[in-house]
Amino acid sequence: MKIEQISIVVPCFNEELALPFFYAALEETRKNLKQADIEYIFIDDGSKDQTLNTLKKFAAQDTKRVHYLSFSRNFGKEAALIAGLQYATGDYIAVMDADLQDPPELLPEMLELLRTKEYDCIGTRRITRNGEPPIRSFFANCFYRLMNRISDTEFVDGARDYRLMTRRMVEAVLSLDEVNRFSKGIFSWVGFETYYLPYENKERVAGKTSWSFWGLFNYSLEAIINFSEFPLTFASFIGLFSFLAAIFFLLFIVVRALIFGDPTAGWPSLVTIMLAVGGLQLFCLGIVGKYLGKTYLETKRRPLYILKETDQTEKEKKQ
Ligand code: UDP
Ligand code: MG
Repeated sequence: MKIEQISIVVPCFNEELALPFFYAALEETRKNLKQADIEYIFIDDGSKDQTLNTLKKFAAQDTKRVHYLSFSRNFGKEAALIAGLQYATGDYIAVMDADLQDPPELLPEMLELLRTKEYDCIGTRRITRNGEPPIRSFFANCFYRLMNRISDTEFVDGARDYRLMTRRMVEAVLSLDEVNRFSKGIFSWVGFETYYLPYENKERVAGKTSWSFWGLFNYSLEAIINFSEFPLTFASFIGLFSFLAAIFFLLFIVVRALIFGDPTAGWPSLVTIMLAVGGLQLFCLGIVGKYLGKTYLETKRRPLYILKETDQTEKEKKQ
């Protein structure tokens, strides 16, 4: 049996503290892989600390296995992921965080499942959220419930980005050339059989999370807008509802004036109605604006990231 290659794609943003632990743990895992070897694609996502130098050090120690890409600024994890997938050459491709929250010990099992079963992707799913602030877990739960209601694409609760995929699935992911990427949705959208391996939540080994509450909130809005048209339907629906209510009130006021004459009173209700309708209009306009904004960004066709330096050549990049 030939030795198969696994590419490990690792987005890193200010991870100088965690990276040595990560690399050591993966080297350990590498020894336990049967008939397989590892290639690392580290992406330095515009880190402000010594991340790039650490990566260069790893690459100098093991030029064959370790590769790095460095962005000109912070482009976000999504951009880092796609860059990694574009440069990955392995038969199987794994996506992993640098903070060891994605246990590398699972890799041999994931590889075995891909080889022996009819799956193209082995994902991972946290069955507990230990060590996470309860409020964050609460909002995460609400988000997954909402998303699965309003989108045709499946969103698995607790699913991490950590996954091992076959080459053909990665080709499919790369074939989507949209600029606004929400990779959790994209991995699910491309189809292929995915099995989710459950595991207990782990806390990051060193450094701190780069996600603030607002960051996560915006990330979930991104998901909604990229994978659902429900807000647009909702806007039309409340527009229709307030129109019907207005007709009803109109009839009521006209009939009342005909029967009881024209009382000068009644302007407070008028103001209330005007404010309510005005508010609704702005709200709906806001929703439409969000989608329009996305379309605008999409039409500019800007590159997803700008490389500052790398040990890879342009030829090694897949389109
Ligand atoms: N990350 C990145 N760019 C960013 C933010 C994060 O490449 O702008 C990387 C980060 O280095 C880590 C992974 O994405 O490897 C997950 O980030 P983090 O651990 O901060 O998120 P959490 O696990 O708390 O959701
Ligand atoms: Mg983390």
